[in-house]
Amino acid sequence: MNCRSCGAPVSLPLLDLGTMPLANGLVDADVAPGTEPRYPLCVRVCTRCWLAQTDGGPAPELLFPANYPYLSGYSVTWREHARRYAHQMIARLGLGPSHRVIELATNDGSLLAEFAVRGIQCLGVEPAFVPAQAARERGLPIVEAFFGPDLAVALRDGDGGADLVVANNVLGHVPDPVGFARGVAILLRDHGVATFEFPALQCLVDGQQFDTVYHEHHSYFSLISVTHVLSQAGLRVFDLERLSVHGGSLRLYTERQSGPGRSVASAVADLLDCEQAAGVASPDWYGRLQPAADRVRRELLAFLHQARARGQVVGGYGAAAKGTTLLNWAGVGVGLLPWVVDRNPVKQGRLLPGCRIPVVAEQVLADAPPEYLLVLPWNLRREVIEQLARGGLTTILPVTAIPEVTIG
Ligand SMILES: [Zn+2]
Repeated sequence: MNCRSCGAPVSLPLLDLGTMPLANGLVDADVAPGTEPRYPLCVRVCTRCWLAQTDGGPAPELLFPANYPYLSGYSVTWREHARRYAHQMIARLGLGPSHRVIELATNDGSLLAEFAVRGIQCLGVEPAFVPAQAARERGLPIVEAFFGPDLAVALRDGDGGADLVVANNVLGHVPDPVGFARGVAILLRDHGVATFEFPALQCLVDGQQFDTVYHEHHSYFSLISVTHVLSQAGLRVFDLERLSVHGGSLRLYTERQSGPGRSVASAVADLLDCEQAAGVASPDWYGRLQPAADRVRRELLAFLHQARARGQVVGGYGAAAKGTTLLNWAGVGVGLLPWVVDRNPVKQGRLLPGCRIPVVAEQVLADAPPEYLLVLPWNLRREVIEQLARGGLTTILPVTAIPEVTIG
C-alpha cells in the first residue's frame, strides 16, 4: 500500500476494525440476512508525511451510490454551523452579487442556500442523486458528478472560476486528495479563497473517536499531513480555525501559491507546534486508538447486557455512519438495541447494515419511551437532550459511548 499523498509505503497501524459493511449502506427489510457486502476497514499511517489513511476499500460508486441517504439539513446543529459559516465568509471576503461560490459535495444544499438567498452566484457539485435532487428543489444549480481536475477545468472554462470554493467535509472522502485539491486550485479566481473543513486527527486519536472511521473516510488529516497534500496541489494555508463540529474539526483558509500572498496568521504555526508537541509526527502517538476501541466495545456491551437483565429498553438515536461502525464493531444486534430512530424518512423502514437494527420514526419515543437512548452521533448529544426536553420526554436517559459510556 502506497501513501495517497506522498506515495511512500504505508505500514504503521492506527486502527483495525476487521470487516465492516458500508456505513451508509442501509438495507431493505426483505434482503436476506448476512448478504450485504463487507470490506476490510483498516487505517494505517504514512511515516513520511503522517497521513492516516484507509487501506484500499470499495470504489467511489459503491460508497456514494445514487440512493446515498445522508441529508445534512436534518441536523439542527449542522444547519446552525452552515449559517454561521456563510455569515462569516460573506463578511470576511466581502461577498456580494458579483461574486461566485462553488461548493464541492453540496449534499442537500443547506449550506449553499445561505449564500444564494443573499444574491450571491452559486454552483454546487454533488455526485449522489438523492441529496443533489434535494438541493435542486431549493433552486440551486447542481452538477451531479465526482469532482477532480478535469471537471474543474470544464467548470472554470464554462462559467468562470470561483471567489470562494467551499470544500468542507469532503477532502477526507476522496480517494485522491492531491488530485481533488488540484481541482480546487484550478477553480479559484486570482484572489479566490478555498476553505477546507475536516475532523482533526488529533481530536480523533486523543478523543478516542474510532467510530468516525468508516470506508467513506479515506484520509484522516492533521495540519501536518494536510499541508503536504495542499502544497502539492499549489495551495497554501494562510489561516485556520478550530471548530467544535464533528467532535473537533479544523477549518483551513487557503489561496493559490500564485495568489495574492496574504500574510499567514499565527494560528497556523501555533497548531503545527501543538501537533508536534502532542506527538503527531512520531509513531508512538498512533498506538493509543486500538486499545480505546477495544475498551469501548467491552463497556458498551456490559451496559446493554445489564439494562436487558433489568428488563429495561435501550433505543438508539440517529442512523448515522458512526453508529454503523460502533454497533458492528461491538457486535450489537436487535436483542440489545431493538430500534434506532431517525428523522430522515428515506432511512425509516430500512435496517442498519450488518447489525440489522430497524430504523424507525421518532414517534416511538413518545409512544413507547425507552429507559435509555443511545445517541450514536455523540456530537449531537446536546441537541438530542434539548429535543427530549421539548417533547416532555425527560424520563429517557441519554447515553453516549465515546470516549466512554456516559449515562444521563
Ligand atoms: Zn505519505
